[in-house]
Amino acid sequence: MSDGASYRGGCLCGAVRFHLDGEPKWVGTCHCSKCRRAHGAGSVCWVGVESGRFHLDKGHELLGAFKSSEAATRNFCLRCGSPMLFQSTRWPGETHVALGALDAGHGLKPAVNAFFDDRAPWVHVEDGLPRRGGPDGTTPLG
Ligand SMILES: [Zn+2]
Ligand SMILES: [Zn+2]
Repeated sequence: MSDGASYRGGCLCGAVRFHLDGEPKWVGTCHCSKCRRAHGAGSVCWVGVESGRFHLDKGHELLGAFKSSEAATRNFCLRCGSPMLFQSTRWPGETHVALGALDAGHGLKPAVNAFFDDRAPWVHVEDGLPRRGGPDGTTPLG
């Protein structure tokens, strides 16, 4: 692809489109209560990229922002409501992109479960991946 895109994605209605250059820093599943509520899902798979590798291609005016904590901002489509992006001062210089917002065929898979001790009691995880938690969500659980 001429613009160097490695991965493309967007919202449900297609108004917001973006691409990523290069490979992600990590891919992981977040079980925190805020992701659960923001996405209406048991957990959320995120792709962590250097913010400079995230490019919004269209829909700038439709990208809503919600500050979900002192540190964090979540972005979603104002037309269709799809949650797509997360940024936090806890992970400076990183943009977290919802894996489910990427176009099919990306081949990425989560490698870790974060905030695992905050998971919903109705979520059953037997993926064999490392489980992390604690106050920062990323400390190995014993
Ligand atoms: Zn949309
Ligand atoms: Zn989370």
